[in-house]
Amino acid sequence: MSEMDKNNPDKNIPAVEVEDMTVAYREKPVLWDVDLVVPSGVLMAIVGPNGAGKTTLLKATLGLIKPAAGKVLIYGRPYPEQRQLVAYVPQRGTVDWDFPTTALDVVMMGRYGHLGWISRLSKNDRTIAFEALEKVGMEKFADRQINQLSGGQQQRIFLARALVQDAQIYFMDEPFQGVDATTERAIIDLLRDLRSSGKTIIVVHHDLQSVPEYFDWVTLLNVRKIAGGPVDEVFTEKNLRAAYGGRVGFLGLTLTENNSVKKD
Ligand code: ADP
Repeated sequence: MSEMDKNNPDKNIPAVEVEDMTVAYREKPVLWDVDLVVPSGVLMAIVGPNGAGKTTLLKATLGLIKPAAGKVLIYGRPYPEQRQLVAYVPQRGTVDWDFPTTALDVVMMGRYGHLGWISRLSKNDRTIAFEALEKVGMEKFADRQINQLSGGQQQRIFLARALVQDAQIYFMDEPFQGVDATTERAIIDLLRDLRSSGKTIIVVHHDLQSVPEYFDWVTLLNVRKIAGGPVDEVFTEKNLRAAYGGRVGFLGLTLTENNSVKKD
């Protein structure tokens, strides 16, 4: 496949296919035989109770942890060949924010994947990074040390870093965690913009209430995959009960006529 084709994949092929993914920590399986097909261009939530294996699924898909079994295809080809199509926004809490660096530098780091051997970041990379800061409303903080930013601001910086990677597929681990309502709105607008430009976005999400409003595709996980598909079809009480073990009644969700779950 030529470089050109790699950056412009065939959108009729699923963006992500995971087959038979099994992960165990110290022999205890936390993901069991998970298959996933994510069509190109969807905005997908991965939901499930705490400890369901959501973060583990992202990490194993991206090769950050080694599965006991499993295969990952990105636009039909093995992940190692397609790395440059993928951007990852980890959970904010897992990152060392005391590293002495500015917001702009963190975003610039997202450009390294675009560089050849020993080349330097150019003025153009700097412009691209600055534009990404503008997109997430953080341009005024470009020179601020990252440890002096609020949680929501740090989350925006992470998103800006993912944006400059100019990927086709974005994996995000709880991007709404600990952000205020304005930032949540800004982030969801950004995710929708990405989807409009043909990108595929996969988001670990824990607020069930907002799933029908924010997402068009959903995977319900609890060690095994419970269900996956269009929100209208699979975000049902039956599947939620299967994933959450009957506790779903406490979540204040009501059913629509077609038995899918909608916000009150
Ligand atoms: P979720 O993201 O759905 O909350 P995780 O993928 O973080 O779930 O975790 C799934 C299970 O794996 C949990 O039981 C968790 O305690 C366990 N786990 C996660 N990371 C590790 C690790 N590095 N070592 C051992 N167990 C882990």
